This record gives sequence, structure tokens and C-alpha cells, in this order.
Amino acid sequence: MGFGIWELAFLPLPSFQPLPGFVDLLPEDAARMRHLEETARTLFERCGYREIRPPLVEDAALFERTSGATSDIVQKQMFSIPSRDDAGAFVLRPEGTPGVFRAYLEAGYAKTNPFQKFFYLGPMFRYERPQKGRQRQFHQIGIEAIGSPDPHLDAEIVYLGYRFYEAVGLRQVTVLLNSIGCAACRPAYLQTLRNALTASLDTLCALCRDRFGRNVLRILDCKNAPCTQAVAQAPRIADSLCDDCRSHDRAFRIALKAGLPISEAPRLVRGLDYYTRTVFEYHHPGLGARSAVGAGGRYDGLGERLGGSAIPAVGFAIGVEATLLALEAEGKLPEPGGAGGIFVVYVDRDCRTDAYRLTEGLRNAGVTADLDHMGRSLKSQMKAADARGAHEIWILGPDEISAGTVKIKRLSDGSEKTLPVVEAISHASRAPADAPR
Ligand SMILES: [Zn+2]
Ligand SMILES: [Zn+2]
Repeated sequence: MGFGIWELAFLPLPSFQPLPGFVDLLPEDAARMRHLEETARTLFERCGYREIRPPLVEDAALFERTSGATSDIVQKQMFSIPSRDDAGAFVLRPEGTPGVFRAYLEAGYAKTNPFQKFFYLGPMFRYERPQKGRQRQFHQIGIEAIGSPDPHLDAEIVYLGYRFYEAVGLRQVTVLLNSIGCAACRPAYLQTLRNALTASLDTLCALCRDRFGRNVLRILDCKNAPCTQAVAQAPRIADSLCDDCRSHDRAFRIALKAGLPISEAPRLVRGLDYYTRTVFEYHHPGLGARSAVGAGGRYDGLGERLGGSAIPAVGFAIGVEATLLALEAEGKLPEPGGAGGIFVVYVDRDCRTDAYRLTEGLRNAGVTADLDHMGRSLKSQMKAADARGAHEIWILGPDEISAGTVKIKRLSDGSEKTLPVVEAISHASRAPADAPR
């Protein structure tokens, strides 16, 4: 015997919450995020960057090849998706750069038009322990300039990231800079670093003891006390740069806009293997221990890893959630405004259809307009109009309907007037969209 409808009513309902590390972005959250995205879009397009949208799902091998099999991302942070037909291992993209680079190669730009400036925005996925400001689905806004080794491009990009933070309202962002050499000079430095750390190998944290053999550079930016002590005396990478890296760095520094709040960061490295020469991070003091709001660098080594030739490139990624936390810390979180526009109210239920038609008439004339769908009283409708930030309330009652007019109440000064409907709509559509009239 199955459950009747009556029994079903007493079964406990499953509660569907987002998975750990995933959050619902409600309209207020989405509006704040969109504010950052629109600021970035305006700024980046002004500098010649064009939007690119690679897929969210890629072959796992793309990240193994590019990020490096020893990186934290590849080792433990990728969300994998089993493929149904043994076509390989798919993953949700943990970062943007490899997909953009793959798309660049796939489109044949390397042969036809090798210098390209892209920006992207959207969600990334990493299997991390969720905590404040760190979700498993998070959002990045990034740019990649592919095809040029010009140090002026490094300068343009470091400054562009800073301009973004400035444009969204942040005033306390600082830029950390370092150069981590190239394929010619880094191997010798890595050996020097290993030699310097050998004596204190036993004191390093477990992760860094593991990194010693396969990814010794990362020990430089470990935040554990024994490791920071051990590296404090280690030689600086800046002192082992080859002549080419040194002159690149010099030209970059000369080009970089004067007055940027820069901190030299001789221990700054990136978690991903493909970075070369210029590396940088943007930090904000309001974020506590993990104070980076964005990071980037030059990655001349990526093209070869993808089976192409050596293709120089430089870019950054901005953490959207971290930037919102920084804005909150500075008290500058954008407050989403109301819908504005016109709210049409009906005096009694018999006027609802006319109110609905009037609302559609306004919308078709390009005016933001809405009305009540809950059958509320006139008073409640007026309150609703106020709550949604309408600039005007248009009132329809039996008298207005029979006269073909509408009563207009302007909320900024409380003034009222009655106009023929046709004239009122035509007037509303000529006024600047959604501006107080
Ligand atoms: Zn070098
Ligand atoms: Zn460590």
C-alpha cells in the first residue's frame, strides 16, 4: 500500500541548502558583484582588452600541464566530473588563465594575430575548506595579454589592476612586487635555495618538507613561523636574475606609474609553476591574514607547456569576494539602489486589468514600471511603491479610467497632477530613463 496524500503531508521534508562552500547570490549580492564587473568591463575595454568566455569545464590535463602537477590546485583542489564515455577526466575550472590560453591557441591567434588582450569574468571552483571569504565556487575578474614580452605591458597591467580597486572605491590597496626569474636563471637559484635550506630542513612544516624536493620556491611564501625563520636568511631570488631578467625588471620599474603604493616583496612567489619574471599581488589591510585581493604575473612559460611555441604573456586575476570584503572593511560596500521608475497602483480590484495594461504600456515605451501582484489594499500598494524606490506612483481608479486619465504622484516632492494617459506615457518615455522627474 502506497502513501496517500494525507500521509505524505506528515513525512519530513528534505531541506535543500546549497552545498558547503557554495552560496546563493541573492539580488542584493548579485547587484554588488555586477557593480564590480561593470567597473572592470568599462576600465579594461578602455585599455583595449576584449571579453573572452572559455568554458567552465575543461580537460583535467589542461591544468595538470599548465598549473603544474605539483601545484596545490592540481594536487587537491580540483573538482572533477566523471565523464560518461571514458573520454578522460573533466574538471570545473579552478582558475581562468589556462582556459584563456588554450582558447587563444585553438583560435589560431598565434599565427594570424599573435598579440591579443583579453579579459574574463565568472565563477571558478576549488575544493577548499570553506571559510569567510573563501568559497568553493568563487568569482574572478581577470585579464591576460598574450604575445608580447614588452615590460611596458607588465607596467600597464599592474597599474590597471590598481586602477580597478581605485575605481570601485578602495583607498587602502598596496601592490607587492617581485621578479622570479626565467627558465635560464631560476634553476640555479632553486639549487642555491635548497643548499641554504638544507640545514634547517627538519624544522620546516610538513608541507614545506614535501615542497623541498619538488617545488622549493613555494617555501618562500609559507606563512608558518619555522618556515619564515628558515627563509629569512636565504638568498633573494632578485640577486640571481640573469641579465635579460634584470633589464626587463628595470624597464618595468621605470615604466610603472609613479606614486603607486608599492612594497618590494623579495619572498613573493606564485603558487603556479608557469610564472616568470614579474609577479605581483594586491593587498588590503582589512582582510586579516589572507590579505590578497588579487594577484598576477608574467607567464612566458605557459605556451610551451601547452605544446605551442614560447609565447610571452602577462595577466592578473582579481578575487571578487575578497574585493567585496575589502570594500566592506572600508565601509564602501555599494548599496544596491531601488528599482526606481513608476509604480502603478489601482484603487480597487476592478481596476486591476487597466492598471496592468497601463504598466505594460509604460514598459513598451521604455519606462521602468511595475505594479502589485498580491491583490493588496491601496495603502499597502503605496507602501510597496515606496519600498522599491519608485520615483512616481501612477494611480488608477474608476474616475480616471472612465476619463482616460491617470493621477500622478511624484515621490520626491509629493506633488500630484492628473494627465490624459496617452500624454502621460509619452511624457514619461521622453524623460531620462528612471530619473526622478
Ligand atoms: Zn632570467
Ligand atoms: Zn612551511
